[in-house]
Amino acid sequence: MDTALVSVEGLTKVYEGAGLFGRRRWSVQAVSDVSFTIRRGETFALVGESGCGKSSIARLVLRLMEPTAGRICFAGEPLAAMNRTQLKAQRRRMQIVFQDPMASLNPRKTIGHILGQPLAVHRGGRPAHYLDEIHQALDLVGLRPPEQFIRRLPHEFSGGQRQRIAIARALMLRPELIVADEPVSALDVSIRAQILALMKRLQGELGLTYLFITHDLGVVRSIAHRVAVMYLGKIVEIGDVASIFVAPRHPYTAALLSASPIPDPQVSWRHRRIVLKGDVPSPANPPSGCRFHPRCPAAMPLCGTVAPPTREVAPGHLVACHLNDAAMAANAACFRSERTQR
Ligand code: SF4
Repeated sequence: MDTALVSVEGLTKVYEGAGLFGRRRWSVQAVSDVSFTIRRGETFALVGESGCGKSSIARLVLRLMEPTAGRICFAGEPLAAMNRTQLKAQRRRMQIVFQDPMASLNPRKTIGHILGQPLAVHRGGRPAHYLDEIHQALDLVGLRPPEQFIRRLPHEFSGGQRQRIAIARALMLRPELIVADEPVSALDVSIRAQILALMKRLQGELGLTYLFITHDLGVVRSIAHRVAVMYLGKIVEIGDVASIFVAPRHPYTAALLSASPIPDPQVSWRHRRIVLKGDVPSPANPPSGCRFHPRCPAAMPLCGTVAPPTREVAPGHLVACHLNDAAMAANAACFRSERTQR
């Protein structure tokens, strides 16, 4: 689990447009100078509030849209240098699972057609030619016996079954990377646990790598190996799930974690809740210096003018903040003791 399958360097995405009659132009920097790697066989989670840029990164990694700047490599090959044929071949190796399976499955096509379609596109022929592979995929995601499912339409299934079908479709081309964009957010809690267990099992059986996009820290804790925390288009902290959940160094990560329930009866619910001031600023006009400074409980004068560099505070644990090591360690120790006190 130590070789990079995906490496992202200095990724930036700016959306631009114009108002009525082209009079007022606008631009939104959705992703700003983001760098990370995803190792083979791991689950790498991107977490943050709505609008922080995590779904834009998912689409950029799949090259469903072009970056404004930066470089993305898949298995060592830069995506930007690929022509259409090379990109089509590469896309077999990376697939996506969306949040809403009802919206991502064609309501007029049978499950057999939906699952056979990716093979028909990449290998030729008709979806019905791939019946064996379709049966195998349905069996893999626990929809058994497969014969009972292939002639039915998406609306005949529950939300959990539809997400299993969406996962089966993503597996049809035997990808190495699956980008899962909020795959369990629209599901009930009990179904959510089943889908997460399924994804973990498939990762073990097929050696899959996941880029997992979510706003839910409970989901991150249960499925991810490493996590990157995003705020307003920037990654503010990256590290192993174990170290970030026990000792968050960045004030924003600490605030997010303090707002998340702890599923452990041995841990007190009376921990300090960090309440952030104000709303998330508009990405069309982000604050100068550290983008988090208007809401940060630890902000200093420097934070309003100078963007903090990203530095390694422990092996594999990167933080973008002006606080010195002692202040960060004190924050982490304070957070840890408050979370574990009864
Ligand atoms: Fe807070 Fe300053 Fe660190 Fe930003 S750089 S998170 S404002 S202490």
